[in-house]
Amino acid sequence: MNKDLALKISIILLIILVLSFISVIILYPDIKLKGSDITINYQEKYKEPGAYTTRFKRKIKITNNINYEKLGTYQVVYTYKLGFIKKSKKRNVTIVDKEKPTITLDGKQEIDICPNKTYEEDGYKAIDNYDNDITDKVKIDTKDDLITYTVSDSSGNQTSIERKINKIDKDNPKITLKGGSVTLYVNNKYNEPGYTASDGCDGDITKKVKVTNNINNKKAGTYYITYEVSDTSDNKVTVKRKVVIKNKVVSNPTPNNTVTKPSNNSGKKGVIYLTFDDGPSNYTSEILQILKKYNIKATFFVTGNGSDSMIKKEYDEGHTIGLHTYTHDYAKVYSSIDNYFADLQKVSDLVYKITNTKSHFIRFPGGSSNTVSKKYTAKIMTYLTKEVVNRGYKYYDWNVSSGDANSGCTTSSIYANVVNNLSKSRSNMVLMHDTKKATKDTLEKIIKYALNNGYQFLPITDSTPMVTHRIFN
Ligand code: ZN
Repeated sequence: MNKDLALKISIILLIILVLSFISVIILYPDIKLKGSDITINYQEKYKEPGAYTTRFKRKIKITNNINYEKLGTYQVVYTYKLGFIKKSKKRNVTIVDKEKPTITLDGKQEIDICPNKTYEEDGYKAIDNYDNDITDKVKIDTKDDLITYTVSDSSGNQTSIERKINKIDKDNPKITLKGGSVTLYVNNKYNEPGYTASDGCDGDITKKVKVTNNINNKKAGTYYITYEVSDTSDNKVTVKRKVVIKNKVVSNPTPNNTVTKPSNNSGKKGVIYLTFDDGPSNYTSEILQILKKYNIKATFFVTGNGSDSMIKKEYDEGHTIGLHTYTHDYAKVYSSIDNYFADLQKVSDLVYKITNTKSHFIRFPGGSSNTVSKKYTAKIMTYLTKEVVNRGYKYYDWNVSSGDANSGCTTSSIYANVVNNLSKSRSNMVLMHDTKKATKDTLEKIIKYALNNGYQFLPITDSTPMVTHRIFN
């Protein structure tokens, strides 16, 4: 009986113990989270939504291991202790990056380039809020005239930006005319002074210039030469040059019967124009010395056969420089009108180069009365004597010949030829050659005679009338 009772009591006690243990487990408070797992954006702060205990109010300890610098999933842990029992709950907090990177372009977003050029990248930069500089991850896609720059950050956020390339040439080419407007006399040939054309895209397009010239040089008037050019994009530009053709009435030079007879042009009476042809030569320097000694200014009709510095000296010492052709080669200068003018231009350019002055005084090789030119071109002197005047030159023959070009001439023959033919009743255009030793040796004597006899020496100037011969060809 005692044994049974003891057993019963122990069973009851055990049941009570188990029941109370179970009830403690059941009745023990739980943790409840406000809200659930949370996702926040990079650089946002996590805001704690809180948690609470069921049945009894208990203080909950909250801890987390969030690293805001790094994307990922972190835990917030909620715990409390009651007696020997500890309870805890966890909340997941995930930091994500949803922000797109940005691409910035250097240069404009819309660019005009020449149609014949390829676009050279102006540059770009890609920046991401999380990855920082991701320029090296930019992918470039070119399709026709559109360039697309695309970049993705490490979270897969993608950005695209476009640049438009317009292959277009909006600018007109440019034509530059050498020289300005041109004035000519009737029958003068128009010589194109030249031009250049350039284009921003095509470069030098001078060869594409179309020149329209409707000059009628037989008729006085104002004309325009049109220069037109288009670039490969059909931008067209037109410029004009004014050409004025003037009438210049020129009578035939008054014919004279002999070369020593005075021209009808009345120059200054009692004046001597000493003229020296064919130089400079080795004698020119001494001739200049003599002229300087008597303070006499003369005229030198130069060729291209002498020294430039001597022409410079003649000019610097106040003498007039005239043009006698460059080569003085009859076979050449009288072979055609064009050849004459080409040769004349050559000596004119030479004189201009040396003296910076354009001479418009001419002496024809052999004089305008020469017949040697007949051998090369019929009637050439008839034409040239008019045409040089049309072109603004004045030509001077002579009415006193020293004969210093004749074979067998001597200082005394030269002296006699000059002094016997001087006249006080007209101007005296004296032909000499500074290429002749005898001339150099006679010059001072001639000067002394002239000065003792009341003559005056002058160089040819603009106001000196032409002295012209009769034309025989
Ligand atoms: Zn000559």
